[in-house]
Amino acid sequence: MSQTAERVSVRVPAKINLQLAVGPLGADGFHQIGTVFHALELTDQLSAAPAESLTLTLTGAESAGLPTDQRNLAWRAASLLAEHGGVPAHAELVIDKRIPVAAGLAGGSADAAAALLACDRLWGLGLPAGELAGLAAQLGSDVAFALLGGSAVGSGRGERLRPIQGGREFHWVLAVAHGGLSTPAVYAELDRRRGSDQAGAAGDPVAAVTASGVLEAVASGDPGLLAGRLANDLQPAAIALAPYLAATLAAGQDCGALAGIVSGSGPTCAFLARDEAHARTLARALAGTGSCRQALAVAGGNARATVSG
Ligand code: ATP
Repeated sequence: MSQTAERVSVRVPAKINLQLAVGPLGADGFHQIGTVFHALELTDQLSAAPAESLTLTLTGAESAGLPTDQRNLAWRAASLLAEHGGVPAHAELVIDKRIPVAAGLAGGSADAAAALLACDRLWGLGLPAGELAGLAAQLGSDVAFALLGGSAVGSGRGERLRPIQGGREFHWVLAVAHGGLSTPAVYAELDRRRGSDQAGAAGDPVAAVTASGVLEAVASGDPGLLAGRLANDLQPAAIALAPYLAATLAAGQDCGALAGIVSGSGPTCAFLARDEAHARTLARALAGTGSCRQALAVAGGNARATVSG
């Protein structure tokens, strides 16, 4: 064990999926997926300080209504790490929540990843990255990617990752919706639409993603090329549950986006811009249409969790 810290602060990114191919429903009730995760410069910040029990406080623009007990993924992450490391789960956790909730941006997963990194440092455990990734996979499908950042191919339920070396930066506008969407509800709608024979399910979702040319587009740094390679099997199901998304996607195209896509299980839509200046212009135009709660210009592809303290 290394020396314990006084207060540790971690900044951790949200994600979008540049592609999301969903395999058939498995006997275990889950789907195998093939995806390209892309970390965004839209972050939550979690701090952990020494304490005599485990406490959690949430602040920030997107914190309303979130649980501050064992139902919170950050709490669960700290508890799991303590059990694994054989130490008492004593920490004062504070999350400054900027990532919209139930938005398809994996904000809860980001907070779980942040709690693992912060408490690992606070308690002086010094676990190797592979061991932290194993705990992350137990907490949720997207937690391991929040630890890794950048851009990566995800398989299994999303917890098995292959980093995309040399992945480049792209500029996006996120159209944040007024409400949220439940990920299980969107998958259930996808299964309902596919029917009992699971028509249209990707036989090998990772092969489908790899064959699409999206990885070459990410490595090229050319937004024009990437625009034609964005794809999401969950999009029709998300639109069926939240029909206003069709109007949001149309508004983004009308405002000059190179392409638009529902992020993960939605309802956030991600619009690809030519560059940073175009993203700023696009965000202003999209906000003016009233088709979303908020339009945020963000960079993606280089974002990574950072630990200080
Ligand atoms: P994903 O894309 O990983 O499926 P999401 O971005 O759609 O997830 P989250 O913001 O992670 O959704 O929230 C999903 C649910 O998890 C929420 O309804 C919320 O109550 C619960 N939750 C637990 N802990 C957190 C947390 N720290 N931040 C956000 N949501 C949390």
